[in-house]
Amino acid sequence: MISRYYVLYLILIFFLVPALAATSTRKKLIENNKKTLIASIATSILNSLCGPYTFITYSFFVISSSMMTRVGSPLKLKLGHRDIHGRGWRQVLGVGLVPGITNLASLLLYLAGLRAIASKTALLTILLYAVSTADTWSSEVGMLYRRRPRLVLGLKEVETGTSGAVTPLGSAASILGSFATAAVGVLSLCLLGDIGVQVHVDEPLMLLILLASLGFAGELLDSVLGCLIQEKRRCVICGIICEQETHCGVKTEHVRGCRRFSGEAINMLTQLIMLAIGYAALGLVA
Ligand SMILES: [Zn+2]
Repeated sequence: MISRYYVLYLILIFFLVPALAATSTRKKLIENNKKTLIASIATSILNSLCGPYTFITYSFFVISSSMMTRVGSPLKLKLGHRDIHGRGWRQVLGVGLVPGITNLASLLLYLAGLRAIASKTALLTILLYAVSTADTWSSEVGMLYRRRPRLVLGLKEVETGTSGAVTPLGSAASILGSFATAAVGVLSLCLLGDIGVQVHVDEPLMLLILLASLGFAGELLDSVLGCLIQEKRRCVICGIICEQETHCGVKTEHVRGCRRFSGEAINMLTQLIMLAIGYAALGLVA
């Protein structure tokens, strides 16, 4: 059931992942501390377990998202956005932990002989990468939009970076990001779907369209949940809705949302809901 190629692939991963993590630290893509390095290595190994196709698609998400963070960074700084820094361990786990667990689950199901469900779980993992890419591209590219974003529900103007806020530019980037990730995923499945948890793609185009649209839907869900659940505060001086504890030099007041419900928690909640929606939707093609 487990091929010689898969064993060779795993050996390669155990050498490659720590080297990639060290490079990410050096290039300041992730914060330079032990916790972040360990979180990064652990999530990358988990996200490689299904086979080379999850490793490639997860890497595409990580690398492209880092590139999007760098895109237009002088303009981002000029527009007054937070300085461009690497991702911390909370952010690494926020995007990498749930798909890492689905990778592990898929492999265990496969080893237990439950091939159909294992293969479906592997496909759901690719969907989670599409959601995360859509989310990151949307916020990173959306920052370059010169006007203030609006909340996805109610369209109220808010401070840039507020969860649940969208811009036309960010949404376009989100659709593109989801499509690109789904394309990388489906292509790697077609070429390497036999190594590791076996996934046979009968209708690649249908699968691509389904994953790409669900990926974008996941990003919209993330915005809606961000709008509804994540803590929103108001500046008592200028009246802007934001997430910071202070604005215009004074303490902001709580308006709505669950106190201390972070963006990472919203990401994970979105991923779990998308697993359920994706499971139902994949029944249509797989
Ligand atoms: Zn203010």
